[in-house]
Amino acid sequence: MKKTISFLLFSAVITVAGAQTIINRDPEIKKMVDEISSARIEQHVRKLVSFHTRHNLSTQTDPAKGIGASWNWIKSEMEKNIPSSGGRLEVKFEEYSVGGPGQRIAKPVKLKNVVATLKGTDPSDDRKILISAHLDSRAALDNDSTSYAPGANDDGSGIAAILEMIRIMSPQKFSATIVFMAVSGEEHGLYGAKHMATKAKEEKWNIIAMLNNDMIGNSGSSETLLNDNMRVRVFSEGVPAYETEQMTSLRKFTSGENDSKARQLARYIKETGEKYVDQLNVTLVFRNDRFGRGGDHSPFCQEGFTAVRICEYNENYDRTHKVPEMVNGVQLGDLPESVDFEYVRKNAGINLSTIASLALAPFEPVNCGIVTAGLTNKTTLKWESPAKGVKPAGYYILMRETYQPLWEKKIFVTGNEVTIPYSKDNYFFGIQAVDASGHESLTVFPGQARR
Ligand SMILES: [Zn+2]
Repeated sequence: MKKTISFLLFSAVITVAGAQTIINRDPEIKKMVDEISSARIEQHVRKLVSFHTRHNLSTQTDPAKGIGASWNWIKSEMEKNIPSSGGRLEVKFEEYSVGGPGQRIAKPVKLKNVVATLKGTDPSDDRKILISAHLDSRAALDNDSTSYAPGANDDGSGIAAILEMIRIMSPQKFSATIVFMAVSGEEHGLYGAKHMATKAKEEKWNIIAMLNNDMIGNSGSSETLLNDNMRVRVFSEGVPAYETEQMTSLRKFTSGENDSKARQLARYIKETGEKYVDQLNVTLVFRNDRFGRGGDHSPFCQEGFTAVRICEYNENYDRTHKVPEMVNGVQLGDLPESVDFEYVRKNAGINLSTIASLALAPFEPVNCGIVTAGLTNKTTLKWESPAKGVKPAGYYILMRETYQPLWEKKIFVTGNEVTIPYSKDNYFFGIQAVDASGHESLTVFPGQARR
């Protein structure tokens, strides 16, 4: 039954306009988040810009310019962390072929992703958490492979954040495996991400979460002149792109259209990110991506994985996909001067805290269901303990009114069944596993359980 446990955690009391909120932070995760350096992120972004262009058809042989020089540099930066990882970090190129006459990439080319894998410490833990950004850049025209295309924000910001996270996380030990991806081919059709999603599907990776970071450093909008580095968006699909007939009927049966796995991940990012990063509001956008658009998380959603996009709150279209030049006193182009490095630091923090929390958490509870045996105004939930990983200290029953976007109440329980005095007709419920240090699994939206 309901019971509180005291976690061995650092508690921060934050006072906002007279209200007191007690936040339980894992001091180790907090330390990692505080280690993220905006100065180092800026150095990385400026280095990426120095390659002049990272267009998918740009030179692969020039040692200082073009996409080839950029992926070589990213690989060497990632490899610097192998010693601190005690050999657990493995860095590899993933090569694939794209393009040809009549295609968006006008000639055949071999492109590379750079993938750094930080192996989990528990050999029986097969879970993978993926974080991605794209290394390619572009100017105005699709096949203009020589113009200056700095790509400082799009997506230098995402790559810089990933490099900084690898540096900080490599010496730390996590139960699950973390895969850091710098992918190419995004600007011409998400090719690098598609390659990874296909490979993950074929090799049956147990991906519990994929976080795509594309443009996380621009805090000022074009046209509307809004300036805001205190909000970031997380996009998540509602009705999954990949849905079997069985999933469709369960979604309809449970009215679960706002409770996809991607949406549970988005809610988790909001709760965790805001816990560890000050002065940042994680705004959930309940669509897969911006209106009619997509990103590197989309191929993962299409393969049935749980994937979301993290993106700045305001886009600046004077900067995106433009050749740098001054026009009527307005600076066009994606230059480092327009990146808000403090904002990138905060956005890296929500990624790091989410990934670390998930990689330390127990596996999710399984066979979660709401008992429907008799008519009652109470709700009985049943679940089974995960078969693998650290044994949960207990479970959180999450609940919210059906019209609310976020979980409103959390009840700690031990055992594998609970009856609470709230009607399943009037609330949505979720179940999370939690360890003794307070690391929480993703939330499972229960189906139907029969006695
Ligand atoms: Zn982009």
